[in-house]
Amino acid sequence: MSTYPISTLHEEAAGLYLEGVSLATLAEQYGTPTYVYSREALTVAFNAYQAALKGHRARIFYAVKSNSNLAVLNLFSRLGAGFDIVSGGELARVLAAGGDAGVVVFSGVGKSEAEMRQALRAGIRCFNVESAAELNRLAAIASDMGKIAPIALRVNPDVDPKTHPYISTGLRSNKFGVAFDEALTLYRRAATLPGLRISGIACHIGSQLLDPAPIAEAADKILGLVDQLAGEGIPLDHIDLGGGLGIRYKDETPPTPAEYLAPLLARFAGRSEEISLEPGRSLIGNAGLLLTRIEYLKPGSEKNFAVVDAAMNDLARPALYDAFHEVVTVSRSDTATQRYEIVGPICESGDFLAHDRELAAAPGDLLALLSAGAYGMTMSSNYNTRPRAAEVMVDGTRTWLIREREQIADLYRGEHMMNAD
Ligand SMILES: *Cc1c(COP(=O)(O)O)cnc(C)c1O
Repeated sequence: MSTYPISTLHEEAAGLYLEGVSLATLAEQYGTPTYVYSREALTVAFNAYQAALKGHRARIFYAVKSNSNLAVLNLFSRLGAGFDIVSGGELARVLAAGGDAGVVVFSGVGKSEAEMRQALRAGIRCFNVESAAELNRLAAIASDMGKIAPIALRVNPDVDPKTHPYISTGLRSNKFGVAFDEALTLYRRAATLPGLRISGIACHIGSQLLDPAPIAEAADKILGLVDQLAGEGIPLDHIDLGGGLGIRYKDETPPTPAEYLAPLLARFAGRSEEISLEPGRSLIGNAGLLLTRIEYLKPGSEKNFAVVDAAMNDLARPALYDAFHEVVTVSRSDTATQRYEIVGPICESGDFLAHDRELAAAPGDLLALLSAGAYGMTMSSNYNTRPRAAEVMVDGTRTWLIREREQIADLYRGEHMMNAD
């Protein structure tokens, strides 16, 4: 067992290795900052879900927004995953990665008419509808196209997932889903609309959940509603309980998929509906790290800064959520240990990657920010006209460049000056 949150990361005499590849060698080969992922770690994470669901009618829909690189999507597709998407762009990625539209579910509060048409043309498995207005729009578009849209209503079970307010989504007070009390009325209405086929029900209560209780509580509420619907002649074929299982960033002890799912699966004993799950973070979060190099050390009277070549545009979670990522040195150094603020070159005081970390490091040394596989690259930007990082997949002793580092000229391609008059 690795002592790191990333199970395939370990220390050798030559420094840190991800699977059979030296991170220092990777940095030489591909430069920094670079996101590095472990095929084995994501495979192990996926297989843990599969094993927990064995013997049940269930399917995993990988949440594409957590990491949408084509190579990642392709690996999950080959492992047997479906996909949870939130935009037409993500649908295009899934298809480009060899994924099958027939195992795609489409979530999100703002699906455009064009996105609905694209998804209907592709033949996705289900639209997770989040409002009455969206239901009407989808019925009209499907009818116009002579198609039938399979739907689930995303309901808001109003349970408190006890997580960060920005990543809790199942409370009455937020923008996601249909209020639980309105769901029955909306299902009745859906049953009368043309162009729709009622297929299931969905919820997603939040992210980085470290306790199985809230999702089990949500399932109880939803199963009650499902039974009520069946009594009214609206039987459902699948129940989608969303994603949200947390991972270890620091000292959290998240349940395993088996522990997380046990109370849920107990509630499904003797039922016929398929269970759908939409994990993202717990499949890819601890399969990735961000490799960065120290540009400067800046000692100060109150704080010492380590200025690195990655920044908040590469990894936004610390600036956005005050999130913690473990920072480790890639090679042992004999310099003295100091406490550092790990900051990037961006002109914002909020541009930090980590606070108050004890490191023995010198300029030019490499650092790895761990647990960066999910919501890392997908939330990156070009702020300060910084090209986005490269992405590399490690597979045993082999490495694959799965996304080239952006070129500066890419960043203003498509921009135009006004005419000179
Ligand atoms: C973001 C999201 C997920 C994935 O959440 P994780 O915390 O990454 O598992 C699943 N379903 C929906 C609808 C989402 O918005």
